[in-house]
Amino acid sequence: AEIMGISFLNIDREVLYNGIIYPKLRQQQKQFFVTANPEIVMLANEQPNYKAIVNQADYILPDGSGIVLASKIMRQPIEERIPGFEVMTHLIGYAEEEELGCYFLGADELVLEEFIKRIKQLHPNLVISGYHHGFFDLDDQQVVDDVKQSKADMVFVALGSPRQEQWIVKHYESFNKGLFMGVGGSFDVIAG
Ligand code: UDP
Repeated sequence: AEIMGISFLNIDREVLYNGIIYPKLRQQQKQFFVTANPEIVMLANEQPNYKAIVNQADYILPDGSGIVLASKIMRQPIEERIPGFEVMTHLIGYAEEEELGCYFLGADELVLEEFIKRIKQLHPNLVISGYHHGFFDLDDQQVVDDVKQSKADMVFVALGSPRQEQWIVKHYESFNKGLFMGVGGSFDVIAG
């Protein structure tokens, strides 16, 4: 289903997890997800550079009822919304079960500390490969190296849009494994 030049994946959660995400994680194949809400679609519509970045994602998921509604109006109905926040929390639970490492990149230092504290309470067995606050230059190689050296299986990037997608696309080629996903203000939500 296509909305304003963005091609959305139109599948249900079970197929997304069991058919795409888990097998790729098992095979250590890279995957880049954008969970696009209406703000992201509007931003992409205004900024061709950003649209090109979003379209480099392996999969674009419909985040929000506004996207599902728009898809119906455009007669390319998307079955259900798949919020990025939900995908992130689900994958953290999966990572804990499967002993996969997670790296958390983004938010300000105080929020990030609270977030990590809370995640450790909620997921005592989670392998936290590393974390870093989100106020750095997108070209900062130290940050990239830290994520790389962590050997994380999943990298959650909470820099807000467009920065989170810009960072992922800038450095994606240089990684040889990992699930990458922009998660906006999700760390703030969990930090409370
Ligand atoms: N953020 C960041 N670095 C920046 C700008 C923002 O880490 O340079 C963080 C911000 O602290 C917040 C997150 O990005 O934790 C999401 O910000 P926002 O709510 O603006 O994004 P949205 O959820 O609307 O995409």
